[in-house]
Amino acid sequence: MKITVLGCSPAELSNARLSGFLVDDNLLLDAGTIGVALDKDRQEKIRYVLLSHAHFDHIKDLLFFADEMALNNNKRHVTVMSIPEVIGALKKNVFNNIIWPDFTKLPTLEDPVIVLKDINADKTFTVDGYKVTAYEVDHTVPAVAYLIQDNKGKKLLYMGDTGPSGKIWTSLNESGAQIDGAIMEVSLPNSFKDRAILTGHMTPELLKIELDKMNKLPAAIYITHARPGHKEKIREELLRLKINNIKILKDGEVHEI
Ligand SMILES: [Zn+2]
Ligand SMILES: [Zn+2]
Repeated sequence: MKITVLGCSPAELSNARLSGFLVDDNLLLDAGTIGVALDKDRQEKIRYVLLSHAHFDHIKDLLFFADEMALNNNKRHVTVMSIPEVIGALKKNVFNNIIWPDFTKLPTLEDPVIVLKDINADKTFTVDGYKVTAYEVDHTVPAVAYLIQDNKGKKLLYMGDTGPSGKIWTSLNESGAQIDGAIMEVSLPNSFKDRAILTGHMTPELLKIELDKMNKLPAAIYITHARPGHKEKIREELLRLKINNIKILKDGEVHEI
């Protein structure tokens, strides 16, 4: 499984792009960044988008992506999936003909460019040959993590945005899954622990507590969502934890698991 980091930042700056991860060629995890990271040919290969939650830093480029597809009018559509709360928020607050045109009905009612689809947490479903399970996590809005397994059995865990969670680790431990790669957020340094808990995010020490809840550690741990101004501090603090195979992601990187 190939993972391309389109963006891994919670803030957009000249050197930082919002969250988006391309799995192989067709499946996108979150849609904060698409257009500035992928040329037209690669964008056209995207068929499915799994959203972790509705926060704008995770959906931003879906708006422009839809607009571009509708203009090209080549009968292509993208299926955007998440839990009902996220899909409902997109319908009500984004594709509502106020903030943005309703691309679930454009360019035509019969062939819209965006198809929104509800999924259920804790139920495994298939997307383009991948087995996917969503697990609820604790953020300030309804949010899920995804476990994605390809046809070779490789397993990627994408945590999205989350503070300390309990249920997901019980479920994953019970499943016995050996995770090959986990994209996990650490947004803030240890001195911001209270703020991290309040806003549903992680610090290095909070991450360590989460990892200690896992029966088997992922083979590789990729850190995402570090606030740009705190990245170096977070790096130092993660190093001090001496966790094996941990790496802070950079925009544009490609990892194979
Ligand atoms: Zn975020
Ligand atoms: Zn968020």
